[in-house]
Amino acid sequence: MPFILRAIPCLSDNYAYLIHDPDTDDTAVIDVPDAAAVQAALDETGRRLSHILITHHHDDHIGGVDVLRAATGARVVGAAADAHRLPALDLAVAPGDRVQVGRESARVIDVSGHSVGHVAYHFPDSGLAFTGDSLMALGCGRLFEGTAAQMWDSLMRLDALDGETLIASGHDYMDANAAFALSIEPGNADLKARAERIAPDRAEGRPMAVVPLALERRTNPFLRAREPAVKAALGMTGAPDAEVFAEIRRRKDRF
Ligand code: ZN
Ligand code: FE
Repeated sequence: MPFILRAIPCLSDNYAYLIHDPDTDDTAVIDVPDAAAVQAALDETGRRLSHILITHHHDDHIGGVDVLRAATGARVVGAAADAHRLPALDLAVAPGDRVQVGRESARVIDVSGHSVGHVAYHFPDSGLAFTGDSLMALGCGRLFEGTAAQMWDSLMRLDALDGETLIASGHDYMDANAAFALSIEPGNADLKARAERIAPDRAEGRPMAVVPLALERRTNPFLRAREPAVKAALGMTGAPDAEVFAEIRRRKDRF
């Protein structure tokens, strides 16, 4: 059976995610913005936390790791490259490594750009990819440490996944992201339809940051840097994809 996914809203706009393997009873959390919010979700479901997977070193992703580890004894997994600025790791991983949770194994993907050493966890059997602040719903993370070329390569590594893969990212910035995306592609029908769903989906309490990759390909302006129509709209016909991505990222920073 595939994992059972639960999104936990934390802080003002973060998400933590619980994945539960119904066959082995293992439960992992991806990022811990707030230990109390994750603990409350565990208590509500009666589940025992076995693993904590960290995407990157920012406080709004690791702030609750030590408290949750102390409370649960869960094994903490994070990037070896970032070990010097993460809570103590029980397992330090590198891109290409596998992380076993229950019966499934995640592949560790380098998604540097927002930070260097940022990783994503892809569980192919359940079709889930936890991307932190790299590829996000209708957006991507700001470039605090890496270059635009690095982030573009990271996005393309995620883009190589199956279109049905659910991208579960670290924040809900949907309103601002949709407004920006529409400024780049005002005529994109899929994007307009998606933007119109935001308010009703939010009212129904749907997690906004869990989206099939195929929908991101059709609507996310950062993934669409390679589209000839987007290049043309930016006056960048024929420019390399990574340069168009860099221009879209610059525009978002000023938007
Ligand atoms: Zn971050
Ligand atoms: Fe963040």
